[in-house]
Amino acid sequence: MITRITRSPRVASRLLGAGGVVAFPTETVYGLGADVFRPDAVEAIFRAKGRPQDNPLIVHVADTDQLARVAAQITPAAQLAMEAFFPGPLTVIVPRHPDLPLAVTAGLDTVGVRSPNHPVAQAFLRECDCPVAAPSANRSGRPSPTTWQAVSEELDGRVDAILKGGSSPIGLESTVIDCSRSCPVILRSGGISFEQLREVLPRIQLATGAVESEPARSPGMNHRHYAPTAQVQVVSGPHEVPPDQAATSAYIGLVGEGFTVKPHRVCVCTDLAEYARQLFRFFRTCEKAGVTRIYCQQVPETGLGHALMDRIRRAAEG
Ligand code: AMP
Ligand code: MG
Repeated sequence: MITRITRSPRVASRLLGAGGVVAFPTETVYGLGADVFRPDAVEAIFRAKGRPQDNPLIVHVADTDQLARVAAQITPAAQLAMEAFFPGPLTVIVPRHPDLPLAVTAGLDTVGVRSPNHPVAQAFLRECDCPVAAPSANRSGRPSPTTWQAVSEELDGRVDAILKGGSSPIGLESTVIDCSRSCPVILRSGGISFEQLREVLPRIQLATGAVESEPARSPGMNHRHYAPTAQVQVVSGPHEVPPDQAATSAYIGLVGEGFTVKPHRVCVCTDLAEYARQLFRFFRTCEKAGVTRIYCQQVPETGLGHALMDRIRRAAEG
């Protein structure tokens, strides 16, 4: 398959409308989309990514009409969350519309919906005229792509098109909250923080061990994730980076002073938002530079720091 690279939301949407799979930019990361009502196209997303079949896809919508085609009900908590954070980096899980193919939700009776706040994504979704199922546009287990070039490195020849749209301004995935049951729960931290959500939904809780023991509440969270080829390790600062093997190691963090020996690649970020924006991109730069170990500075787990540490830890486990 030849992967077409385009700047035109209309061209990209036509390819999707013909049953193709199309990568597109969003404010979080690039997504790999297909028409939710074409099970063959949805199946092609799983094939292109090598994604486990039990991991549901997020459905992207341009407006409330599209939302009504995939959700059976907008619960009161979902309504509040959507009013506050749509469009934006939040995925809300609600009961699934009976017409929505089970291939999208991996057999679950719920669906995760999101409305991206990115001009190119919005233009693309409007042109598509159908809700678009889209996971991140990477091979399963790998870091999410935040540029079209990264998508191309992951999926060239495996998808119909890549819609170009600059680098993703947030750089980490959406926050996933389950609003299908009585008490809203954060299943994955992301672009909208716990603190922001709590202002709108005071009873919201972070998924804990207790919640995770419930059967398959968020299947995707158990899979290997975000791992570059280099080994990732958490450090409290540059002083903890071992001086041996500096030539093949790298560091990313907020503090840039205090190395015994400076590693081959160093990325010093001005704040948490820049750290989040750079993380996955830095992983890829390091891979290309032949780095074998990436040291990531630990940050306090408040605000965006929670999602950032979640991704770093998962990358380290991978
Ligand atoms: P990705 O699109 O690859 O960034 O991953 C989407 C995340 O949302 C995964 O962790 C999924 O398991 C989760 N997710 C999507 N839909 C649902 C759903 N209906 N119920 C629970 N988790 C979901
Ligand atoms: Mg993903």
